Amino acid sequence: MHAIGIDIGGTKIAGAVVDQLGSIVASERVATPAGDSALLEDAVVQMIDSLRAGADEEIVAIGVAAAGFVDAAQSTVYYAPNIDWRNEPFREKLEARVGTAVVVDNDANAAGWAEFRFGAGRLVSDMVMLTIGTGVGGAIVAGDRLFRGGFGAGAELGHLRVVPDGLACGCGQRGCIEQYGSGRALLRMANEIADAGGIGQALARARTEHGGLDGRLVGGLIESGDDGAVAALRQLGSWLGQAAASLSAVLDPQRFVFGGGVAIAGELLLEPIRAAYRDHLPARGYHPEPDFVIAELVNDAGVVGAADLARVWVAEHA
Ligand SMILES: [Zn+2]
Repeated sequence: MHAIGIDIGGTKIAGAVVDQLGSIVASERVATPAGDSALLEDAVVQMIDSLRAGADEEIVAIGVAAAGFVDAAQSTVYYAPNIDWRNEPFREKLEARVGTAVVVDNDANAAGWAEFRFGAGRLVSDMVMLTIGTGVGGAIVAGDRLFRGGFGAGAELGHLRVVPDGLACGCGQRGCIEQYGSGRALLRMANEIADAGGIGQALARARTEHGGLDGRLVGGLIESGDDGAVAALRQLGSWLGQAAASLSAVLDPQRFVFGGGVAIAGELLLEPIRAAYRDHLPARGYHPEPDFVIAELVNDAGVVGAADLARVWVAEHA
């Protein structure tokens, strides 16, 4: 029961043949053709043909993951931020060209599903994943099922509001957790700490030396235990813990999984998350406490999850 997973990112397309245990049998990667959805479609078809030609077992289904809103039927992409897709019937188009069952899903959903099936969420029935990259992505598994919402646009956890009238967000609203718990927010906090002097001296020095702070510089200072950089990470964790408390009140997961570049910080990130969670949990003391863990699949989660979602779809519709 091998399936192909394709993860269309802003800069690259990753593809893999994945077995039923979530292991990658073969993989490929090409640059995402910029600005042209016809070229993009050709590149995806080419990758599928090439992966299939090299496979020694039949490919039962193909899963495609991309950033954006995908309908609940896993067929039409309503909107994709990196591609000029608007109400794009990508499943139908791709099936016509490759002759195999295709499902399309949101990339954060695919990554969350991979963690649920084969990674940090594999021992629970209810899981929330927050992906801390440049922005904040999310996925929800409830009762062993991926939660998509009635229209397919659910689980946009990055736009959970944590601060009324807070910082402006790219979504057009204010105060979303994406503005307080993302990699971009971490850099803003690190800059504020650098401006304030005191524990921010090492951050300020690095900023002057390199003409600005980036994720690599702040990450390096966190790793070396610099007080200012660790304080920025603790602020970030505190916001994420508050968001987790609100999510717990609604979804009651057994486990929160944190992925994305910032999650490399591991326990240093989880510790302030747990502390803020306890401080902000409604009816604290009467609510069983979930686990807070780091994602396990990192770079492969998108392709592994997309392939498995496709396999699940075929099994349920056979
Ligand atoms: Zn927002």
